[in-house]
Parts: sequence; C-alpha cells; structure tokens
Amino acid sequence: NPADPCRIVSGIGASPGLAIGPVHVLGPTEVAVPDEPEPLTSGGDRLHAALERTAAQLKALADDTGRRLGQADAGIIKAQSDLIADTDLITLACQLMVEGHGVAYAWQQAVERMAGRLSALGNPVLAARAADLRDVGRRVLAQIDPALQSGHALPDRPCILLAPDLAPSDTAGLDPARVLGLATAQGGPTSHTAILARTLGIPSVVAAGAALLALPAGATAILDGTTGRLYLDPSERDLAAARAWRDALRATQEEEARERGLPARTRDGHAVAIGANVNTPDQVPFALAQGAEGIGLMRTEFLFLERGDTPGEDDQYATYRAMLEALDGRPLIVRALDIGGDKQVPHLALPKEENPFLGVRGARLLLRRPDLMEPQLRALYRAARDCVSAGAPAGKDAPLSIMFPMITSVPEVAALREACERIRTEIGAPEVPLGIMIEVPAAAIQADALAAHCDFFSIGTNDLTQYALAIDRQNTELAPEADSLHPAVLRLVRMTCEGAARHGRFVGVCGGIAGDPFGAGLLAGLGVHELSMTPRDLPAVK
Ligand code: PEP
Ligand code: MG
Repeated sequence: NPADPCRIVSGIGASPGLAIGPVHVLGPTEVAVPDEPEPLTSGGDRLHAALERTAAQLKALADDTGRRLGQADAGIIKAQSDLIADTDLITLACQLMVEGHGVAYAWQQAVERMAGRLSALGNPVLAARAADLRDVGRRVLAQIDPALQSGHALPDRPCILLAPDLAPSDTAGLDPARVLGLATAQGGPTSHTAILARTLGIPSVVAAGAALLALPAGATAILDGTTGRLYLDPSERDLAAARAWRDALRATQEEEARERGLPARTRDGHAVAIGANVNTPDQVPFALAQGAEGIGLMRTEFLFLERGDTPGEDDQYATYRAMLEALDGRPLIVRALDIGGDKQVPHLALPKEENPFLGVRGARLLLRRPDLMEPQLRALYRAARDCVSAGAPAGKDAPLSIMFPMITSVPEVAALREACERIRTEIGAPEVPLGIMIEVPAAAIQADALAAHCDFFSIGTNDLTQYALAIDRQNTELAPEADSLHPAVLRLVRMTCEGAARHGRFVGVCGGIAGDPFGAGLLAGLGVHELSMTPRDLPAVK
C-alpha cells in the first residue's frame, strides 16, 4: 500500500506482477460502417471471400500463438474461428443483404445482433463469447473493406496500456517489451484476454471501470496485477518502494534464470529429471536454453492439427529425426497421436460424438485406425534405427521413447505393444521404451497391473484432473475448481507411483501442474521421477 495519498483506481487482478510507467489510453475501436447497397451476388462473394481470408488469418495467428505461448492459448484463437462459421450468423447477414443492405453493413449488424443477444443473457461465459464474436467480426469487416480496419497504434516508448477492453487477438499480439502493464475498464479475470496476459507475463488489471479511460495520458502509474490496483501519480517515496519491490521480483527471476542449467536436486540430494513439452524441432533450442534436460512430451497431434491433411510416414519421419537431432543425444518421449476430446482434426471427418472426452479418443482411436497408427509407428522406429546408425555412442540406443495416451486397460497396452513389436521387427529397429499416459482414474487405480506391461508412466494431470473431478477442462466457469492439487488427484498420483514402484518403473508428469513450483515439489515428494512442462516454466521449477 502507498505511504502517501494518491489516486487509486481499483479493478480485479488478472495477471500478477508490478508495472511502473506512463499510461497510454487506447480509444474505442468502433468504426462507422456506411450502408452501401450492391448486387446480391457480388456482396455474397465478397462476404464469402472475407470469411475465408479471416479463417486463414486466424489459423496463422493460432499457430503463432501456439508456438509462442502454448496450445491452450492457441485454442482461444481457434475457438474464434468457429464463431464466424456459425450458420445462424451467416444466415442473418445474408438476410440483411437480401433486404437491400450493403455487405459490410449487413455483416456488422448481424454480428452486433448476435453479440447483443449473448451479452443480454447475463452469463459471464456467454458475455465473453460476445466479446470474442465482436473481435472476430471486426477482422471480417476489415477483410470486406480495408478502409474499415480498426487498429490500435502503440506509442514508441514502453507504457501501461489502458483500454475499454482488449480483444484476445490484440492481446496475443502484444509485445511485453513495449507493454509494461495492461488495465481494462471491462472484462473479467477468466476472460481470454486475462489468460493471454498471464501467459505473456504482462501484469494486468481488469474490470477497473470507465474512470480508467479518463486518466491523463502520459501520467506515471504503478499497476499492481496481484491486488488489481492502479496508483496514479504516486509520490517519489512510493515510486521508490515500488521499484524496490519490482527489482526484488526481477532478482528472483534472474537467479532462477542463472541456475536453470544446474541439475534439479532437492536439498537432501534427490535428483528429479526435468523435461520440456515441445512439439516441433524449432522449439527445442529455447527449451534447452531454459534448462530442459530432454523432451518429456512431444504432442504429435499438432503435426495433424496445423495442416489441412494427414502427414505421411516420410513427413513424420523427417520431423522425429529432426527432433532427435536437435536434442543431440538427450531423451525424447514422443506421444502417439492423441486425437479426440479437445483435439479435433476436421480433415479426418471422424464421427461426431455427444461427449468427445468420453469417446473414441487417444489410444482408443489408434487401435481402431491402423491407417493412422501404423505410419506413425513406422516413422518413429525408422527414426530410432537411423539415429543409432547415424552415430549414437556404441551400445547406446537412440534416446527415443514412445508413449500412448488415454489408456484404461491392460488389453489396450498389450494390443499396442504387439503392433509396436511387429513394426519394429519389420523395420529392423532397436527396441525403445514403451510407456503409457496415466490420464484416467481407471489407469491410476490399476497402475500396479499396468506397470507389469509397460516400461514407464507419464501422468497427464490435465486429463486426470478433468476425469477425476468431473470438470470439463475447457469449462471456463469451473476453471478455478479444476485443481490438479485436489486431494483426490494427488491420491491418484500416489497410487500411480506406488504401482510403478512395484515393478521398478519410471514415472513422469507432463500435465500443467508439473510447471507450478509448488505442485512440482509435491509431485517430487510423492515419488515422481521426472517433471515435464512448457519451457517458460522451467527456470522457476528448477
Ligand atoms: C494431460 O492430459 O495432462 C496431458 C499432458 O495431455 P494433453 O494436455 O495433451 O491432453
Ligand atoms: Mg491428456
């Protein structure tokens, strides 16, 4: 708290940390859309083309967000693409065009009406969807007519950004070197903008009210993203205290950065292996620089999600090989395709399921679709074989392991192992460790039985939490309760470690909680041997 009186604007803390700098107020982004009627066919064609270009633009942004921030954040952008594919919305826009309105005007009216209906329901989840719809609607408008572009220009020097609200796609594009902090008049702590700000590490306050926008541009402020407060024109004494606190925070982060290359060892000498969750070879150097000792989870479904078709065996081989080469002898755990649930691949045109998380997902799909599983296994075993002959130390296999997602039973493991062994012998590849993910309570509970049939476990706490607590991992309303440190989840982790220990098996955790310093300590205490996380989380955990 400040020692001297100063003006305080209060909101809700949305992303922790302290920012000190001049404020910059962003104006509203509304543009006036003139109603310029045109023939129906050419209007329809323009709308269709604009929707297609926007979808392509969002896909590129989602790919970039996925690479920079992670797939969970990319999902926010991907969900926006679905909003413009909504048939009700498109029908409404077409109807307005039939009534004689111009395409840009008709589109904007349709978006406003649909968004207005959603916000009027008073449900925070639907209100967030309305904000997303307006955001994506603006993108389409700019594609219909570039003159209708509504953009923000940022000042040259670093600032604390104040805005009515900020669209998720605008937030994803913010540069933390230029935006020291962010405060919005509207929004909520679980909004997509808040989630993205947290991932970017930008201290943020939301729901600070309209008074925020009346603050004088250029005035110095302290933004505290933990308490949700903005202090305007603080005294020199308070500025000095805030700087000292910010510097202490930075010093901790710098110390973490300095020590990130050291082995992760507890004070009593117990070592824990530290891996990164990385999907593409170009992400490996950053992960290693952050202190990763290997890759504990390569999610291969992103090879499928990021393109419009199925990568063939040779394409996959090239990627796995490049991954092994980038790792230069460090371990790599590749997860076989985990399609289904939240990872839908449109071009596979799989049957629609009522409850995809409880449906044909992960290993269940692999066992039903040898056309998907076998090319992947062949590509993996070829990479293992060729990397050995390409100069691994004598007697040492390529450091590749394969694991299977969504396992619930011993027969599944037996069937998968059989497929692996058949393909391995055909290819003449060395044996590689075969593991399974523990993501379903059924697998954790019978870990001792499963451990007899596989070489290692990797606990997927994201799914284990959703299945143990019956909370859809995508439900924003219940997100605060989806706690991977819930006692029930921790008991399942303990059972997994105990089951593995009976057969001397290795246990890793590759779910989000492995990247939380407090969670990581608990997991290590429960007997986990390896923690694998997004590269950004590595220094603090180590
Ligand atoms: C998990 O479920 O914890 C996991 C690591 O897998 P994903 O998040 O890809 O489902
Ligand atoms: Mg999972």
